[in-house]
Amino acid sequence: MKMNLEETALSSAGLPDRDDFTPVELLAGRPDAAALFLCDHASNAVPKTYGSLGLPPEQFARHIAWDIGAADVTRALAAMFEAPAVLSRFSRLLIDPNRGADDPTLVMRISDGALIPANAHIDDTEITRRTQQYWQPYRDAAAAQLDRMTTNGIPPAIVSIHSFTPIWRGTPRPWQIGLLWDGDARLAQALMGELEAQPDLTIGDNEPYDGALEGDTLYDLGTMRGIPHILIEIRQDLIATQAGAQAWAGRIALALKPALARAGIRMIERHPSHARSQSRRPALTRTRA
Ligand SMILES: [Zn+2]
Repeated sequence: MKMNLEETALSSAGLPDRDDFTPVELLAGRPDAAALFLCDHASNAVPKTYGSLGLPPEQFARHIAWDIGAADVTRALAAMFEAPAVLSRFSRLLIDPNRGADDPTLVMRISDGALIPANAHIDDTEITRRTQQYWQPYRDAAAAQLDRMTTNGIPPAIVSIHSFTPIWRGTPRPWQIGLLWDGDARLAQALMGELEAQPDLTIGDNEPYDGALEGDTLYDLGTMRGIPHILIEIRQDLIATQAGAQAWAGRIALALKPALARAGIRMIERHPSHARSQSRRPALTRTRA
């Protein structure tokens, strides 16, 4: 790629202002598809200019670098729904696309016991640089798809695919799948109802994490815009192989299709976030009529 003088100028961090790294992968799909699929933590890649962030290579195989299996599940779901999907192409260790631009964990200095040398003394200039080059294009690509897919006031639902580590700080996690949601319970409730028809599932309701997080991807694109959304967490050991990812995409699709077709889901409707409230929120089982 040819670069002009301006593009090759060095930032104060000593890195080129631009590199030839593509931060976003877009899977084309029907604009009238019922869902837009997102995968914030699809990749463990880091642009060449960053080397390995000072980490030994084996750290990039761990969940701290990416959501193992999530990209394969996202691709399979996008194909099943003929839907567009937006996947990040950079590791969350570089910058986390699922954090607000002013969130203190946007660039992690330490993650699950691993110190990240290239992040340990990061300054605001470098955080801004990573935000502009990687974080923003990912968020913009997702927002552009939402705009393209919303016609006559009918939005797609946003379905964000993540995966979680089976053991956290020595404790095994019991769920195979978790539904994370904030103030808007529409799709969470519908999907929970459909998933419960699969009797062998242990489903987390805002487990292993609470879905209310100010500035995260679904907060900005779902909550703030009134677009129905759900974050689906799948246990990594179930989807670490291509066959596992396909199988779990199939199970999710089986429940997601009827959930998305329910009345009142694909409407713009604003539900306030719970991110700032101190008390524990009601669970779906209790809010369900
Ligand atoms: Zn994730």
